[in-house]
Amino acid sequence: MTDYFENELASLREAGLYRQMRLVEGSQGSRVRIGGREVLLLCSNNYLGLADHLALKKAAIEAIELFGVSSGASRLVSGNMELHEELEHRIARLKGTGGAVVFNSGYAANTGILQALAGRGDVIFSDRLNHASIVDGAILSRAELVRYPHNDMAALRRLLERADVKGRRLIVTDGVFSMDGDLAQLKELAALKREFGALLMVDDAHGTGVLGADGRGSAELHDVMADIDIHMGTFGKALGSFGAYAAASADIIDYLRNKARSFIFSTSLPPAVLAASLAALDVVESDEGKQLRERLTESAARFRASLHAAGFDTMTSDSQIVPVFVGPAEKTMEFSRLLLDDGIFVQGIRPPTVPAGSCRLRCTLMATHTDHDLEEAVAAITRVGARLKVIR
Ligand SMILES: *Cc1c(COP(=O)(O)O)cnc(C)c1O
Repeated sequence: MTDYFENELASLREAGLYRQMRLVEGSQGSRVRIGGREVLLLCSNNYLGLADHLALKKAAIEAIELFGVSSGASRLVSGNMELHEELEHRIARLKGTGGAVVFNSGYAANTGILQALAGRGDVIFSDRLNHASIVDGAILSRAELVRYPHNDMAALRRLLERADVKGRRLIVTDGVFSMDGDLAQLKELAALKREFGALLMVDDAHGTGVLGADGRGSAELHDVMADIDIHMGTFGKALGSFGAYAAASADIIDYLRNKARSFIFSTSLPPAVLAASLAALDVVESDEGKQLRERLTESAARFRASLHAAGFDTMTSDSQIVPVFVGPAEKTMEFSRLLLDDGIFVQGIRPPTVPAGSCRLRCTLMATHTDHDLEEAVAAITRVGARLKVIR
């Protein structure tokens, strides 16, 4: 029986799809230590550099002193604390919705929201490149899952026109696609959802805190805040903390509290995490936040332009997520290994995260990267890329 797992692991290795973790020492700054050596971190979702921000650390420590380290139960039992409610009020204010509910992670949010909002007879229309947690939530819901071609609004329209939908139509999309770094066409999606009476849900894991003048996310950027029925986002990426939220009408939020199993059947987030998320929102809504966002946007544009000039394909990236197209899995992982030798830590992305043959390095920028950091990264990527004949 154990042969099975051994054999499966061997075939993963053979296909270049075996996964391993790198041990990162110390805190998550723009430079980290791996194997005792300092390297430039170019694959973190800590976009604004808040994961080791003094204000967040202070808030977390203070919360532990005031409230202890655990909530001790799920929210509906005895684990509903002041900080949970305060964070939900802040999120509802940020998104301009009637309410918000906090989940333990983005994965738990997507599986909980979709399982609760859709069921047999309903149809979930999901962009083909949506995050895995959306696919898993759709499967849990038992609704029919229709995956439309990436960002293809004409194809989505044809699928929505199907007359045999008995229940609800729910359109769900990433706001910023996590492996391609391009943006959903929220204006077009909002028009389609109105035309077909569908619900529209946006997973803004990579947009929250980063996009829009006030960091309210991709819906702010596209000026469609009021058209989104369910805003989902996470605290673990740009916000430097942990956990996730749904923001929606008071009724939808109340319904989620009653129906979302990942919310009901799980111990709630601990005080330190909630306090860090609140402190992160303070930063996002301040002048410092504005400056961090501007810095990140400028860095990403410059980084992409430098890679283009060197001959790389950054695919459809239009954000702080900048893929470098390679193709085959083995070559992508070799690229990543050689870059680490050169002092740059960037992950290769392979199936099943992305389609076969479209493996890539996924570079992610942080507002705390200096110009010098990014010039160094481009130089190393160019050196290794030429050596591996990714560029000529
Ligand atoms: C990271 C991510 C999630 C999951 O969020 P976690 O808080 O890490 O569980 C969900 N959706 C998208 C688009 C993501 O990138």
